Amino acid sequence: MKNNCGLYIHIPFCSSKCLYCDFYSKADSKEEINTYVTHMLWAIEKFGKEYNGKIFDTIYIGGGTPSVIGTNNLYSIITAAKKHFNIINPEITIEMNPCTAGKIDFEKLKNTGVNRISLGVQSANENEIKKMGRIHRNNDVKSAVEKIKSSGIDNISLDLMIGIPQQTTESLKNSMDFCIELEPKHISAYILKIEENTPFKRLAPTLNLPNEDTQADFYEYMQGYLSKNGFEQYEISNFAKAGYESKHNIKYWQCDEYLGLGPSAHSMLNSKRFYFPRSITDFYNNKVVYEGEGATSEEFIMLSMRLKTGLIFKEYTDFFHKPVPRQCIAVAKKYERYGYTKVDNASVSLTPKGFLVSNTIIAEMLE
Ligand code: SF4
Repeated sequence: MKNNCGLYIHIPFCSSKCLYCDFYSKADSKEEINTYVTHMLWAIEKFGKEYNGKIFDTIYIGGGTPSVIGTNNLYSIITAAKKHFNIINPEITIEMNPCTAGKIDFEKLKNTGVNRISLGVQSANENEIKKMGRIHRNNDVKSAVEKIKSSGIDNISLDLMIGIPQQTTESLKNSMDFCIELEPKHISAYILKIEENTPFKRLAPTLNLPNEDTQADFYEYMQGYLSKNGFEQYEISNFAKAGYESKHNIKYWQCDEYLGLGPSAHSMLNSKRFYFPRSITDFYNNKVVYEGEGATSEEFIMLSMRLKTGLIFKEYTDFFHKPVPRQCIAVAKKYERYGYTKVDNASVSLTPKGFLVSNTIIAEMLE
């Protein structure tokens, strides 16, 4: 292990289900939320005792839509985490849907240490938003951002999506302009993936989805536009103002240790990997599935290459006590001639142009 650990807490409730979403979440009911929070508080105490030798420096409450459980429940969860885990100077993030933020008391959350809010925007074009089955509107995003900022929390991240139904270069520009005007510190932009068992899978032929070439054009356009507006790309899908990269998410890409609590949450701690199944009932029954040892060298290479900093040879050697495979360096050198990679004595990494074809290059590095 190189760094401190991250704590992830999953809230599996949403006001309604978006048509493309594969995350483990269900429509909220007050009674179920109360039962869930009670069990989560118990789990926090139990796992806090079990890992009291570890230092944590991030808490990430994700979902689902954590804001649907309300301020008091979020407050209790964070207070319990700070009481039972050894948490030092943490980045504390809560994911929110813009239309549930109106009911949240951000000042109270700030007082318990929350210093980062991640809002799902996805698009600023109402035809696209409706097509995706999302329930918020642009005004909800604007008022959420205003409310968060007036509480004194200035680290706001906005999520966008590319490759969504009906998207055009102009509509993508419109979504980026909308976000940039709200002056967030961080923007995530994921390419839509059609997941099995979602309504989008069934509807795909009728959705008028951009093809792969168009998606690639959108991605390149987005990289250039966000960079021109002061957001530096530090990971394949993530852009930030200097110093506002997500500390929690970087832990996953660096193979640092993390503990995830709640159905579908994964953990990697003490060289063990385990997860809670995608079932609230299994979570209540404390069912945990162990899936083996810590990160493999292939995973380490694959995840490191997602970051702008790339694969740092010393970190790999410290982790696995062996040198970086020659094949990795040879492949990176081959692609350097075409401007896709950068190679020096200490690391190999992808350039912004290389991020677009990362799957091909990384697969070849691992052959
Ligand atoms: S709000 Fe987020 S987690 Fe909930 S259904 Fe929509 S995309 Fe999925």
